[in-house]
Amino acid sequence: MDPSTVFITISLIMYANGGVLGLIHRDLPATLRPSAKSWQTGTLLIALGCTIFAFPTVLPMPVTVVLANGLFLLGLTAYLWSLQKFFGMRHKPLLLLPAGLAILGVFWFSAFHPNTEVRILIISAAWLWLMVASVMTLTTKLHPEWALSRKMLLSIFVAVLAFTAARALYYAQLRIAPDFSITGNAHWLNLATPIFMTLLPVIGTTAFALMCSDRIRRQWEHAASTDHLTGLPNRRTLTDAGNECFAKAAGQGPGFAVAVLDIDRFKAINDTYGHADGDNALIHVAFRLKVETRKGDFIARSGGEEFVVLLGDLQPAGAEATAERLRLAVEQDMFSIGDDMVPLTISIGVALYNADDRNFTETLRRADKALYLAKSQGRNRVELAV
Ligand code: GH3
Ligand code: MG
Ligand code: MG
Repeated sequence: MDPSTVFITISLIMYANGGVLGLIHRDLPATLRPSAKSWQTGTLLIALGCTIFAFPTVLPMPVTVVLANGLFLLGLTAYLWSLQKFFGMRHKPLLLLPAGLAILGVFWFSAFHPNTEVRILIISAAWLWLMVASVMTLTTKLHPEWALSRKMLLSIFVAVLAFTAARALYYAQLRIAPDFSITGNAHWLNLATPIFMTLLPVIGTTAFALMCSDRIRRQWEHAASTDHLTGLPNRRTLTDAGNECFAKAAGQGPGFAVAVLDIDRFKAINDTYGHADGDNALIHVAFRLKVETRKGDFIARSGGEEFVVLLGDLQPAGAEATAERLRLAVEQDMFSIGDDMVPLTISIGVALYNADDRNFTETLRRADKALYLAKSQGRNRVELAV
């Protein structure tokens, strides 16, 4: 196959891929659409560049070279832009610099001082710049989730980066003639180049689409398991975690304790200051509890103004002391609404895992009973279930 046929074939595949991304675009959540749009633009720009390379004699050489390479570089810039959007990063103003400089260089060394070797070096330098920036974006620590699709896309960028560097070095030591045509059949690398170029627009587009679908799945999972007001795990997640603790304890594993915490006279805050300030008070207490619980303890908002903590303490005295520490922390952390300092306190009922309980719900029920006792004994106190 000659390079022209390869370029035509791969550009058709790229158009198809870009088209598919356009079709699924509507189904993506609004937060992912700008990133997907940019990836699609990148794919179509590179496809257009390939189409121009497929017909190298239709336009004058400098026009073909500047146009096709310019489209490739803008396509890669669009990929980088897409990744930065995907990970919620702010765009650097220098984003268009590598493409801009390289286009000027290519124009100069094709229209005024034709020199293929220098052109290859300029283009490779710009590619490497964009590839390194893309790899750095993909490895950002801002998003700790490492889906397989993200690793796949990272590998593709690294592979194209390595190929680009190797290709530049190879052409440089080859000492090619200034009028050497990289779309000609003269060298095997001329054939390998377009094939390697398909990696990003074709397999990379698939990996990108999978990354989008993984992001959506994670967003749904997060929404289903988290209380949106406080960001704490919700009742559903609590039930799962509690059942797991219970199963471990029943299977001779470590025991656990459950503490049910309820804000005292919370209705009065809503009635006095309104629901919005009531919400802020809930966020305030949730934050204090989150800070005070130890690594390994699990805290959830079980509903309304009630929280549940699963504790690793195995002794009644230890569990009671932990609950007491939480109670005191909330009492001492003053909450202000406007000029008012609003005292917030919690009552806590604690139950230790007991072999007589048949399931987690029964342990939780005992903690609940202890909570009622704490309320009836005057509130702002801890009671241990019998
Ligand atoms: P007690 O000391 O006996 O627990 O008294 P309380 O007023 O805290 O308890 P009660 O059950 O009478 O009232 C709970 C209040 O919590 C009533 C409800 O409107 C409020 N509440 C529940 N969920 C939310 C919420 O998400 N936001 C706000 N602002 N208020 C909530
Ligand atoms: Mg209450
Ligand atoms: Mg309550």
